[in-house]
Amino acid sequence: MKKIIILLLLPWVFSCSNENSFPFEEEIIEENDESLSRSYTLYWDISNTCELILQEPINEILSEIMNIPEYEYMYDLILINNTKINYIYIYQDNHNSVAAYEPKFKMMYFRDEYVVHDAFPEEFIHFIQDLAYDGIYGRSKADIEFEAKFFQDLLNLNNGAVLRGTGDQYGDLYTKWILKIYDEFYITAFIYDIIMEGISGLTYHEFLEDFAAANTSYGTPEHFDPQLLKYLY
Ligand SMILES: [Zn+2]
Repeated sequence: MKKIIILLLLPWVFSCSNENSFPFEEEIIEENDESLSRSYTLYWDISNTCELILQEPINEILSEIMNIPEYEYMYDLILINNTKINYIYIYQDNHNSVAAYEPKFKMMYFRDEYVVHDAFPEEFIHFIQDLAYDGIYGRSKADIEFEAKFFQDLLNLNNGAVLRGTGDQYGDLYTKWILKIYDEFYITAFIYDIIMEGISGLTYHEFLEDFAAANTSYGTPEHFDPQLLKYLY
């Protein structure tokens, strides 16, 4: 029954299919049921709604990202809304996506347990966007994906690895833009304004356009205000 629902929903799934280059974790996940059952109460009780094999890697990455104030702040949105992800499971879709978040039924899936460490933060962000926008179902994927990737670039979660939100035409300027915002982070209270101001005459929306042109599977941007960034900054 579940599989049928999932297939019908694919057109609206935020599948991060341009992230196929995630390095695989080589660490072996211990399959000790008892230790797993005690390990997932850290931040988020997913014991009843998450496939067992995913619980440990999810809690591992959750405890990592919760050291970052922005993620802690995002987590507050979950508490405020008193909500949760309905189901987290392993699934291999037709696009060989690493992971995806499905907003209509608030479900999340991963290709396997090894991709969780690198893929979870973005899917977590999509879940939070769902709250910040009061629903992302049916919204432009280009806008949603760009905001999520730009945000991760801003936090440098990848430790200097390839930037996620870059397009083809303004790649260098995108990097300069990120560095410019990064430089002003601790000296101004108006981070959101700095973000929207852009750099060298290019604003947030031109970079979104460039990203969308390089990732046509996300469709045409609608250029609505980035609500998650607004909430955070
Ligand atoms: Zn995504």
